[in-house]
Amino acid sequence: MRPVIGITTYNGKSPSDLPIVAVQTRYVRAILQAGGLPLLLPNQLAQDEWLEIYPHLGGILLTGGGDIAPEHFSGAHHPKVGEVDEERDSLELALLRFAAEDKKPFLGICRGCQVVNVALGGTLYTHIPDQVQTGIRHDCYPELPRTHLAHPVRIEEGSQISKIFGEPILQVNSLHHQGIKNLAPALKAAGHAPDGMIEAVELPEHPFGFAVQWHPEWLTDQLPTRNLFKAFVEAAAEK
Ligand code: MN
Repeated sequence: MRPVIGITTYNGKSPSDLPIVAVQTRYVRAILQAGGLPLLLPNQLAQDEWLEIYPHLGGILLTGGGDIAPEHFSGAHHPKVGEVDEERDSLELALLRFAAEDKKPFLGICRGCQVVNVALGGTLYTHIPDQVQTGIRHDCYPELPRTHLAHPVRIEEGSQISKIFGEPILQVNSLHHQGIKNLAPALKAAGHAPDGMIEAVELPEHPFGFAVQWHPEWLTDQLPTRNLFKAFVEAAAEK
């Protein structure tokens, strides 16, 4: 049987302004393309409820979205901190801690990368343009297409994720205004933008514990990106 991949979601609004459980279709397609079975995880699940689903998941995909409440990492409040959702924060942070401990495969994307770092004790820049000296634009939305290749990422030689990508330099999109400030003690930086921003992390001693700050679900035309989703689903099949 193909592995089930739990996909985190956001609390959205329908065009008629009704509350919905939502996730961008690109994540679902990327998991299907890689041979996994996507299962959406609504934020309305209490911990005792998602813990009953958890054993059936081969892996967990932490998706992009709004900002994590700065209280979770003693972060500086900033007027640009937006779309905070305490329900989603508490589910995702707890879920990631379980997956890290249990060696259950996980892949964090954008906000998901930040969730991985914060859940394991790291901190974030709450608004990069005001807090980091950089000549790079990391927040390319909404003016540029989501597939716009904004900057290169240099993948650390010898990192676990370098074996998956198979290329030392990736050209990536960039749709984030926050980023990793202090890396969680358990994590290793596995890729950087030219300004030093951490763009990929990995959890050593874990069969598949990776997160990236960019949005690979929009770049599945690239072979290294397809390799990432394929390796994720393969790891989930073995769990
Ligand atoms: Mn970036």
